[in-house]
Amino acid sequence: MRTPLIAGNWKLFKTIGEATAMVGELKPLVAAAKGVEIVVAPVFTALSKVADTLTGSNIHVSAQDCYWEEEGAFTGEVAPKLLKDAGCSHVIIGHSERRQYFGESDETVNRKATAAIAAGLTAIVCVGETLAERESDRTFSVIETQILGGLSGFTAEQLARTVIAYEPVWAIGTGKTASDAQAQDVHAFIRGLMAKQFGQAVAEALRILYGGSVKPDNVKGLMSQTDIDGALVGGASLKADSFAAIVNFAS
Ligand code: PEP
Repeated sequence: MRTPLIAGNWKLFKTIGEATAMVGELKPLVAAAKGVEIVVAPVFTALSKVADTLTGSNIHVSAQDCYWEEEGAFTGEVAPKLLKDAGCSHVIIGHSERRQYFGESDETVNRKATAAIAAGLTAIVCVGETLAERESDRTFSVIETQILGGLSGFTAEQLARTVIAYEPVWAIGTGKTASDAQAQDVHAFIRGLMAKQFGQAVAEALRILYGGSVKPDNVKGLMSQTDIDGALVGGASLKADSFAAIVNFAS
């Protein structure tokens, strides 16, 4: 069975002090959560302190991006092994904001995810269509291209360390959520595509998260869908009480 994963993407918010205070508040609120993997993704500068604060808890730490080289003359970049060193177990790759504002492509996603997994991290690979693509009936073809490009050459071992996050761009930070059925439709398509490309066993084991204005009041419906295995949460992950309510969706 697939363990649900609830991940909070804090984007460019919170100082080190604010981030550590937030996880200090969050810890007791989710301490009793069973059968769910919990992840928070602070900015780079807060990773190490947040990871220290979370030692011995059931909350894991993720970065929001990484580079594919281990070291070298690459000013401004952060290598996966340095994320491990800072206490991360996960890294988000190819978020739509990175694709939109920082020129990420399926090829860079592929290189980053490959390097992250080689360093022992779990890669949360994001895919999703824009509103224009959805309205022109291109959702499935866009998702297919992103997945086949982003995961090109992946083995079953690599896919065991990979999580896909389906995040329709039109639903991110807009307050518009895909309906349960709209999300399930795309998740089922992704699982089918993974089965065709990588085999049934890989597809069955793969976790596919939904992201896009997930809130305490819509998480239950989304999580009740067969192929939705968790959530990547932006805005509602910034406050301990709303993120905890999402993590505790089953109780
Ligand atoms: C995200 O940042 O991945 C996201 C889904 O944001 P929000 O929940 O705010 O839409």
